[in-house]
Amino acid sequence: GPPGVGKGTRAEFLSRALGACPLSTVDVFRAAHGKTAAPGAAMAAAQACMTHGDLVPDQIVLDLIGERGRCLRCSGGFMLDGFPRTVAQAQALDALLAKERLRLDAVINYELPTEEVVARLGGRLVCPACKAVFHVKTCAPRVAGICDQCGGPLTQRADDHPEAVRVRLEAYHTATEPVADYYRAQGLLVSIAANDTPGDILAHTLDALVARGLPV
Ligand code: AMP
Repeated sequence: GPPGVGKGTRAEFLSRALGACPLSTVDVFRAAHGKTAAPGAAMAAAQACMTHGDLVPDQIVLDLIGERGRCLRCSGGFMLDGFPRTVAQAQALDALLAKERLRLDAVINYELPTEEVVARLGGRLVCPACKAVFHVKTCAPRVAGICDQCGGPLTQRADDHPEAVRVRLEAYHTATEPVADYYRAQGLLVSIAANDTPGDILAHTLDALVARGLPV
């Protein structure tokens, strides 16, 4: 789905509902970045891409995902969040899954009109400490600038600034939309409208997975 569609939140709800091991590329980047005081050249480059809204180069993403191969063998299954984001990443994932004798059950595509994406990202506030997400208009914190959950200060993500949002939308259209076509051609794509309440979006997703014969 596009930036701002709520992939992280949807993934958290879904992995809890399904008991599947969640693997988020953004969390992997953050963990790798936090490992050393002075990040390696590749991680510094990845960080710069994220700040500007550009996609991180495929090879860096694939190296980091490769290190988490054990997640794919989790007994409850696995759920990838934010990956693959380019056709090259999707092809590399196919090769990795074939090696592990695994297959994807479904690829979930959350859909949101561009105007809604821009409105959501422009007003989004995040808590760096506990990861709670707010919105200045639609989900305002009780005290302006303060997290309801942990009392920490709220910030705007660097890549939610207007110029980075423009770059992210462009990356989405040119690099990530073709991934939806790639999986549509394989009969794996499940598209869900994401302009509903979080509970309804989860329910529609689970219904769509049941309709595909998945044990949910
Ligand atoms: P997101 O929060 O999912 O929009 O991701 C934030 C940023 O992380 C993106 O704008 C990219 O810079 C980077 N990113 C996340 N997943 C990937 C991926 N699979 N490939 C390349 N870059 C990624």
